[in-house]
Amino acid sequence: MKVPYINLGLQHQKDKQRILTKVSELLDSGMFILGDEVKQFEERFATLCGTKYAVGVANGTDALVLALQSLGIGKGDEVITAPNSYLASGSSIALCGATPVFADVREDYNIDPVQVRKKITDKTKAIIPVHLTGRPAPMDEINMIAKEFNLHVVEDAAQAVGAQYKNKAVGCLSDVACFSLHPLKNLSAIGDAGIMTTNNKEIYEWLLKARSHGMKSRDECEFWSMNSRLDAVQAAILNIKIGNIKEWTERRRGIAAKYVQELGHLVHVPKEQAFEKSVYHTFIIMTAHRDALQKHLHEHGVDSKIHYPIAIHQQDAAQQLKSSHDAFPETEKQITQILSLPVYPELTDEQVNHVCAQVKSFFKSI
Ligand SMILES: *Cc1c(COP(=O)(O)O)cnc(C)c1O
Repeated sequence: MKVPYINLGLQHQKDKQRILTKVSELLDSGMFILGDEVKQFEERFATLCGTKYAVGVANGTDALVLALQSLGIGKGDEVITAPNSYLASGSSIALCGATPVFADVREDYNIDPVQVRKKITDKTKAIIPVHLTGRPAPMDEINMIAKEFNLHVVEDAAQAVGAQYKNKAVGCLSDVACFSLHPLKNLSAIGDAGIMTTNNKEIYEWLLKARSHGMKSRDECEFWSMNSRLDAVQAAILNIKIGNIKEWTERRRGIAAKYVQELGHLVHVPKEQAFEKSVYHTFIIMTAHRDALQKHLHEHGVDSKIHYPIAIHQQDAAQQLKSSHDAFPETEKQITQILSLPVYPELTDEQVNHVCAQVKSFFKSI
């Protein structure tokens, strides 16, 4: 039996005809950038997150850059984030001219408020907690620190659409939240796309201009800015796919629950707390036998991945940062032990059982 890590072809099977019809209509209409489909998607996405506003952009990285810029963050400022995240959590800070500062994470892969506190200086302007793996970061603690030191908070919710923290959706727990709609994310376009959410009207209105050259009307530019708009065709496809998100999330959670039950005595598995609802963008296990386990799984048809094999502070691009040379013992320990098992809605029960059986057979063999 084969268990690929992801199967995007299968994901679109059910909606394929609707998508093709929609694309055909758009071709005829000539409406390719922004427009009604984007507006409709922004409204639906804001509703999903429980925010007043959402602004669609070209990708999740631009969303982070624009979110930081909307808060006035730039040259000379420091922004604290997690080193074990996807590299864009750090690069977006550098791209807006500020300095990334890393704070180590907890055993649940999310940023550790105790470590955040230690990294605050008089240059610190914001914190970017990442809801890594689709599990909410400790937002109450982060927001409390932000309040105490007068800092902004930007959620990097790229992996966490639909996740909940204390009965609230992620995306409404900070000044601005950023989502990626990249093909590998839980809700995805068929190319690059991203979106930001906020409850702040002023920020919302600034972001609308900032994603489109800083223009306040068809001909008038108020400030220099990038071109990072959401394409109508991507929004149209997202408007169709967003209808599946609750069902997809439940399926991911069901698979995760099965892995926890079957494998929890053999490897470290995520343990969800009562106040959180993870959406399992990835299902990461930890074991000291990671490399041998990955090889065994591969030989028995099961694809797995490592998210991520190189921490942001270890990247060549980060070597000139002072913060890159701090100690991150938890992140560096995790890097040697983490393994992401396939966890997507289209997996069959037989495939999930096969993954469990192969992990078990590995541990019997050693
Ligand atoms: C995917 C991702 C991003 C970047 O999003 P893109 O759409 O690929 O630009 C940022 N942060 C995290 C945590 C991500 O997983």
